[in-house]
Amino acid sequence: MNIVMLGAAGSGKGTISDYLKSEYSLKHISTGEILRNNIKMQTPLGRLAAEYINDGNLVPDEVVVDMIKDILKDKSTGYIFDGFPRNINQAKQLNEFCKIDLVISVEVEREILMNRLSSRRVCPKCNTTYSLQTAPDEICKTCGAKLIIRDDDKPESIKKRLEIYEQSAQILKDYYKNVLKIVDNSKDLETTIKSVKQIMGGIQKIWFVKH
Ligand code: AMP
Repeated sequence: MNIVMLGAAGSGKGTISDYLKSEYSLKHISTGEILRNNIKMQTPLGRLAAEYINDGNLVPDEVVVDMIKDILKDKSTGYIFDGFPRNINQAKQLNEFCKIDLVISVEVEREILMNRLSSRRVCPKCNTTYSLQTAPDEICKTCGAKLIIRDDDKPESIKKRLEIYEQSAQILKDYYKNVLKIVDNSKDLETTIKSVKQIMGGIQKIWFVKH
């Protein structure tokens, strides 16, 4: 089973993907995380991606699509795509080599997103993500490192990223309308996970009949 997670930065699609990964034994592919790891390791892909990411822009489609194609050579598992596709061109290309069974759009009001993103902090060593509410001392609870603000969580980049997301969100939702489910993540995570469980219950029944 392959799942696409749609949602703006800060919507919580990464957290929900982590839940799906552990509960349904799927592989979680976060394109943002792969790109950030490449930047950290100063690979040629990382050097190219940094120019776009730090300004809040999208990395060119062909770069990201090739990266995904490479990962999908492993056909032994189902995937959760988190942060991919980001636009209709990527969605159409993905459709040529991978069947998508479910698309979950994680929706959160813009004001809440802005607050979440501006209080987001990340550990530079182990990549654990916190908010200022969960780590007011700005120290990583796992490895003790001083937390940092991601370059693309700075105010100008946040605004640009949300605008870019909003431009393509409805087009992607229309494209995936036959397999689309919407989940509101404006409140607590527990309520959201309950909705996701219900969706998965329904989808799994259909999926197992087909396969
Ligand atoms: P994310 O962690 O998903 O918010 O992604 C962080 C940044 O990585 C984005 O703002 C983009 O610059 C880049 N990125 C991640 N996924 C994609 C994608 N599918 N297409 C283009 N750029 C991407």
